[in-house]
Amino acid sequence: MAINKELYERYKAMKAAKLAAMEEKENPDSSKSVVENSTTLSGSSSESSGFRALSSGGVQETSHSENSGWTNTYYQQKTEEYHGNVGNAPTVNNVSESDVGGELPYSAINYGTILPKKEEPVENNIEQKIIESPIKKFALIGYPLGHSLSGYIHLAGFESLGIDATYEILETPPQELVDRIKYLKTNGYSGFNVTIPLKLPVSMFLDEVDEGANTVDAVNTVVINPKTKELKGYNTDISGFSAAIPKDVNLSGKVAGVLGTGGAARAAIVALARSQMKEIKLFTRNVLNCKELLEYLRKNFKNTEFNAYQIDRIRDLSDINILINATPIGMQGYAAGMTPVEERELQTLPEGAIVYDVIYNPKKTLLIQLAQKNNYRTVTGLDMLIWQAVEAQKIWTGRVPDFKDMKIAALENL
Ligand code: NAP
Repeated sequence: MAINKELYERYKAMKAAKLAAMEEKENPDSSKSVVENSTTLSGSSSESSGFRALSSGGVQETSHSENSGWTNTYYQQKTEEYHGNVGNAPTVNNVSESDVGGELPYSAINYGTILPKKEEPVENNIEQKIIESPIKKFALIGYPLGHSLSGYIHLAGFESLGIDATYEILETPPQELVDRIKYLKTNGYSGFNVTIPLKLPVSMFLDEVDEGANTVDAVNTVVINPKTKELKGYNTDISGFSAAIPKDVNLSGKVAGVLGTGGAARAAIVALARSQMKEIKLFTRNVLNCKELLEYLRKNFKNTEFNAYQIDRIRDLSDINILINATPIGMQGYAAGMTPVEERELQTLPEGAIVYDVIYNPKKTLLIQLAQKNNYRTVTGLDMLIWQAVEAQKIWTGRVPDFKDMKIAALENL
């Protein structure tokens, strides 16, 4: 049936108005915050291998003064458990035959199927297309997955494309990863997303990894070849991070501060380095542990300077144009209500600086609230989450889903 273009335009306008109203409610002073954007930062890069394949090199550290008086930062008030790479979660290296035998107690949530609706143009640069079948099956694996919005976001995206699909939330502790992969390959899935703590371990089961995933040593999107059942991994956090930055921001020649050095941080660093930043400062709990990472970055992004600093010694951010929180500090269920940088230090950022928190739950972390209070522009992790899902659907389907529909679904379910 032909699509009525006028009705379709009205439908789009209605969605845009609905999203604008939701965002206005979220953030009445919208001039201080950043909402949707479709920019993808560009720039040359010569990265070729993962962060692990590194050699020795120098590490720099600042000589901040030790004056303290911190009150609401994470470092004095850790209360909740985090399941990222800082915990003691087992890795697949520890898996034994007996650990993985038998049926898994899958706690899958099936969000249902979507009826076909409308057609979108096909992208040219997609490497792999899924062979048509009545219902496409997708999933998210990771552990724990209690707070995940991915099902709502992806189903809204598939619906915007008129693709009949399911998206299941499959909690997968690391010791069950091997069986989970087997399950996905043999049960008709077209692809899946991967989240903590499996973004690195999953690479052991992949037949191929794209350049971005290889560069950041983390895979968050996998395509299952319908014929051969071979797996190819991608990292859509890199482009998702970039796409959430407002169009009018030019980072070339500027200085970034990135808090944390985990998967999200590395995706952010690569995205920032590709946009030709003058310097990227890494703030970490252990500068010495960053040696290989710095060495890799210096080797592969020669136009950008990289230095590492102790995160707990942040005092002066006056030379930083964009500050990124890529730690879980402030995240619901881990250190909610805490900030990785206290207000006093945040206030040292120059006028016009951007504060970008990759955390998406809560929508406004304490860091984002403090930044808005002090008139800095902000970017939230929710936009990054949606853009990385848009990118995943482009890889899976060769088509571009509707960002607004996906964001509305996220806001309705957050
Ligand atoms: P990760 O790989 O576990 O890395 C987290 C990093 O944060 C660690 O490497 C560590 O860096 C730092 N960190 C952890 N605990 C800390 C603490 N107590 N104090 C100071 N630094 C600490 O996790 P991730 O996958 O990067 O995720 C990090 C956050 O980003 C999570 O909240 C996640 O939900 C969010 N995320 C959002 C998106 C999105 O689309 N919006 C995508 C991915 C992740 P050092 O070891 O260098 O200290």
